[in-house]
Amino acid sequence: MHIDAHQHFWVYDPGEYDWIDDSMASLRRGFLPAGLKPELEQGGFQGCVAAQARQTIEETRWLLELAASSPFILGVVGWVDLQSSQVRSQLQAFAANPKLVGIRHVVQGEPDDRFLLRPEFLRGISVLEEFDLAYDILIYAKHLPVAAEFVRQFPRQRFVLDHLAKPPIKSGAMHPWTDGIRELAVFPNVFCKLSGLVTEADWHHWKAEDITPYLDVAFESFGPQRLMIGSDWPVCTVAASYARVMGVVKEYLGRHPVQVREAVLGENAQRFWKLKPPPARG
Ligand SMILES: [Zn+2]
Repeated sequence: MHIDAHQHFWVYDPGEYDWIDDSMASLRRGFLPAGLKPELEQGGFQGCVAAQARQTIEETRWLLELAASSPFILGVVGWVDLQSSQVRSQLQAFAANPKLVGIRHVVQGEPDDRFLLRPEFLRGISVLEEFDLAYDILIYAKHLPVAAEFVRQFPRQRFVLDHLAKPPIKSGAMHPWTDGIRELAVFPNVFCKLSGLVTEADWHHWKAEDITPYLDVAFESFGPQRLMIGSDWPVCTVAASYARVMGVVKEYLGRHPVQVREAVLGENAQRFWKLKPPPARG
C-alpha cells in the first residue's frame, strides 16, 4: 500500500489561516477530500494521513468526520491542547476513534525556541503513549538540538519529524541542519517525513538536484526503515504540481531496491501509525 503521509484539508477563512500570505494566494480556497482523491489515484497512492492545520479541537473532530466519510483518509494527526491540565480528558473524547493516530502542535510558530521543553508541554506528551498516539514534530532547522533533548525524555513514544525540519534548500546550505538531523536520528523511535521540501526550495526555479543532497542526509541518518513520503498538499502546490512533488522522492527511490521503495512509499507509515488499509471496493 502506498501512502501520502502528510497532507491537509481546509475550508478557507482569512482569520484562521493568516499564515497564508499574498505569495500563497492560490491557497485561499477550500481543499477537501474530493480535490485530493484524483491526485492520490494518479500517483498510485491508496491512502493518506491528514494533518491538523489550525490548533482547535473542532478541527480535529472535523478531520475525523472527513476520514469517516472518505475511507482513503487512513489516519488523522489532530490537535489537542497538550499544555492543558485537561489533556487527558480531551484525548479521552477521541479514544474510541481508531482514525486518530497522532497529535501535532505548531511548534515552529511558537516564539519560544525551547517550547518543546516546557514542563506543561512535556506533561502533555507524556500522556500520548497511554492513548497509543504518535507525535508529529513540526519545527525549523534551528530547533533540531532542542528536539533531540525533547525526544531523549520519551524513549517509548513514537515521534515523526515533519518536512525534515525544513532544511535551507533555497540557499543550498547543509550545515548546521545536517548535524541536527544526525543528532535526532540517533533515537530509534523517531521517524521522518520526506515531505514539504519543494516549499523550502526556490518555488519558481527549483530542480530535483537542489533537493537530492538533503534526501541523501535523510537516508544516511534515518535509514530506509524510518522514512515516509508525503506531499504536504495543498501547501506544496505553491511550488509544484502534486505529481512533480511526489516525483522528486519517487525518482530518488528509483536508485534503491524494491524493498526500500515500498518501505518509504507506504510500509513505514503504515507500521508507524498502525494504519489499516481502506476496505476493498466491491
Ligand atoms: Zn503540512
